[in-house]
Amino acid sequence: MEWVERELVDKMTYRPRFWLRYVDDVFAIVNRDDLAIIFQCLNSLHEKVHFTKEEEKEGGLPFLDVMVIRGSGGELHTTVYRKPTHTNRYLHASSHHHPSQISSVPRSLINRALSLCDPPYIECELRVVRQALENNGYSWRQSSRWAQTTTRRKPYCVNRSPVYLTYVKGVTDKISHYLQRRFDIVTRFRPPALVKSILRSPKDRDPLNVPGVYKIPCDCGRSYIGETRRNITTRVKEHIRSMKNVDTDGSAIAEYVLASGTTHYIRFDKASVLSREKFLVPRKIREAIEISRHPNFNRDHGWLLPTAWKPLFLSLSHTTNLEQDSISSVCLQEDESNEDDINEPSESVTEPSLPTTQPLSARAMRAAARRAAASQFGSCRDARTSS
Ligand SMILES: [Zn+2]
Repeated sequence: MEWVERELVDKMTYRPRFWLRYVDDVFAIVNRDDLAIIFQCLNSLHEKVHFTKEEEKEGGLPFLDVMVIRGSGGELHTTVYRKPTHTNRYLHASSHHHPSQISSVPRSLINRALSLCDPPYIECELRVVRQALENNGYSWRQSSRWAQTTTRRKPYCVNRSPVYLTYVKGVTDKISHYLQRRFDIVTRFRPPALVKSILRSPKDRDPLNVPGVYKIPCDCGRSYIGETRRNITTRVKEHIRSMKNVDTDGSAIAEYVLASGTTHYIRFDKASVLSREKFLVPRKIREAIEISRHPNFNRDHGWLLPTAWKPLFLSLSHTTNLEQDSISSVCLQEDESNEDDINEPSESVTEPSLPTTQPLSARAMRAAARRAAASQFGSCRDARTSS
């Protein structure tokens, strides 16, 4: 936003009378006739950044949680603003929370009313707050008393980590007192676990919402193999967009369809995850392995893996258990197997020999994958990514 403001100052000859910004919300006072010019200038700064505006309505304009009201003489008044959808539901007074968390609700509501509202609006706002508090089980007398006590923080002098405890009335509050008195350790109270946090979410997760290696098949039997560190769904959508826009640079699928004509039907609905993998090196190796295993129409073959490995890839079975299938065991991330490094001689072999009778042990496979990755980093740094 600082950049936007600098650009605006350079581009615009007109200066707004008043300009106040909080993160990406701006409160500005401008002449009505110049509003369109400023707005057009703002929206021309960057093609992907679009500003929306809200104009004064019946003499009032909300900004964050403040309603700014224009008086009859042109002076500005402020009061609290609530969205029309606000429900006035707060933490209930009888809820099983630490008293400091309970008392913070009336304290913050009353103090906000007192600090934001101009004198003519205070009474009205306090009436609204009182009604809301009483609806949430608070007594107005107690709330007013709480509002007068401000929490003063002691200067933090002892460098001790706070203790986090779940609030249990009569138990953890006593422990907290003891820790504070005897050891000067601050306790932070957590609300107790909710049923919601114990149960899993009822929503279905999209299996493609993961980073990794994916396959998009064509009706002719060949497939496109790609990899992405973002969600695979996002990448698939990009392929579809590239096809619609005939953007052959953005997608190998678009290039393939455009070159081969309408006889090929790409099954985006059958896109599938071959491996979930968020780390670059294992993902690149896995992509190259999958390209060698599937008839494909990729533009390139990804990272160059030793040809001696090919029979091994073809013999490996791909199971549906994505986390632990046998190919993923080759592609374990490096830091997982670091403890093996200590005892192994550092060889500069790029093509490990493949035993014909004995199957590779998991350790040997990891070491081989690591050596291949190291050599790929050196030789294929400029290799084009195929996704
Ligand atoms: Zn095809």
